[in-house]
Amino acid sequence: MNGRVIAIDGPAGAGKSTVARAVAERLGWSFLDTGAMYRAVTVIALEAGIDLSSDELLEQVVSDLSISMTDRVVINGRDVTLEIRSPDVNSAVSAVAACSAIRRALVEQQRIFASEQALGTVVEGRDITTVVFPDAEVRIFLTASLEERAKRRGDESAASVAARDSADTSRVDSPLSVGDGVTILDTTNMPLDQVVDEVVACLRK
Ligand code: C5P
Repeated sequence: MNGRVIAIDGPAGAGKSTVARAVAERLGWSFLDTGAMYRAVTVIALEAGIDLSSDELLEQVVSDLSISMTDRVVINGRDVTLEIRSPDVNSAVSAVAACSAIRRALVEQQRIFASEQALGTVVEGRDITTVVFPDAEVRIFLTASLEERAKRRGDESAASVAARDSADTSRVDSPLSVGDGVTILDTTNMPLDQVVDEVVACLRK
């Protein structure tokens, strides 16, 4: 088992996926986009047409799921890589991610994923530095102004980004927050290469 992890959290559109992917590439490590996992479960929940405020119904959805995270996102054998970015998923995912049973199941899978990688994993999400890997050797909170984040999202309006941030920071289970000892990086005016340099430099400190 190899537990090396760089953990990155932050609000929507902060550039977490782009940065995490680039850091992983530079180090030859694996990359895990945990938001894509919550999005994949949301695709299934929306299809089932269940009430997203019911933890009981959401728990049933997650009881029988298999998710494979490679460069494609596959849930129960179905490739949902494109579907998970739809506006319907954007607006429903925070409700699904507020369900503790879903979080428990996905956190377990995230830990297993990281334990199986040969060198290490760059993991990004909302609770990675605080809950999933609180002991990661590098823990970063990436942020940027709302205007910049909405611009980076492109396909998602500033209102939708702000609504997700508000739901993600105010939920009871594993809210998005800056944990103790986590390094904050404001990337509003930073080119990608510089952000990657700073994250990699944290590893060598
Ligand atoms: O990262 P992304 O914007 O794709 O995440 C989609 C949603 O998944 C977030 O708005 C949040 O509700 C949920 N999420 C989470 N915990 C994570 C990653 C994502 O609750 N670790």
